[in-house]
Amino acid sequence: MKYSLTIGWLYPDLMSIYGDKGNIIALQKRCEWRGIAVTIKKISLDAPSSEIRSSDVLVMGGAQDSQQTIVAKDLVKKKEALQEKIENGTPGLFVCGGFQFLGKYYKEADGGIIQQLGVLDMCTVNPGGKRLIGNISVDASTFFGRETMLVGFENHGGRTKIGKAMKPLGTVIKGYGSNAEDGQEGAVYKNCIGTYLHGPILPKNPILADWLIQKALEKKYKKTIPLVQLDDSLAQKARETVSEKML
Ligand code: GLN
Repeated sequence: MKYSLTIGWLYPDLMSIYGDKGNIIALQKRCEWRGIAVTIKKISLDAPSSEIRSSDVLVMGGAQDSQQTIVAKDLVKKKEALQEKIENGTPGLFVCGGFQFLGKYYKEADGGIIQQLGVLDMCTVNPGGKRLIGNISVDASTFFGRETMLVGFENHGGRTKIGKAMKPLGTVIKGYGSNAEDGQEGAVYKNCIGTYLHGPILPKNPILADWLIQKALEKKYKKTIPLVQLDDSLAQKARETVSEKML
């Protein structure tokens, strides 16, 4: 049987910085190398919610506050579909500004509030001043159930705190993470991942790309479909170089 997946790429023209587009390429290539057909749907302003509903995996990148303000106005129209998908276990990756959107609100440095979707129990405050910038490594062993370090690059003013019932994606080894205070990075809710890791995160961390692909296949075909192992030695070398640099 030939498998296929549809990637719903949310606001590619507005929410995609620091190489976030690489997340789409990583998902596409890692599927195609395994013979899984991929359709990429660009879902931007005024696209109907049906585009979200027909996606097997959702991906949204980060942006500056100005783009987030534009997107916020459009996203309210798509909230129901997005919430439905997240609640029904559709896998999703939401990076930085995209991650902030899942929370209740984002308070900008000038005090303005950008209403967020409120899908997850979390909120973000940008106190102004120092931005949290640099390479970051995260211990995500609890999430993956085996020793795993994620690496990436972060650049954000917002500090995100998640509710007590929410689980972080991991704990910070080097860098700032969600808020530079509690050592947490990102959030996990059902099959939805929120994170501050650009980089882009998926080419640098194939384990997470494969996790999303696996979940998307499982959800669509209602069975576990083992993924063919790929040669990730180059990605592994890059990861080692980055982590050595961070020491
Ligand atoms: N505008 C947000 C912040 O600075 C998100 C930045 C980003 O997506 N890199 O907190």
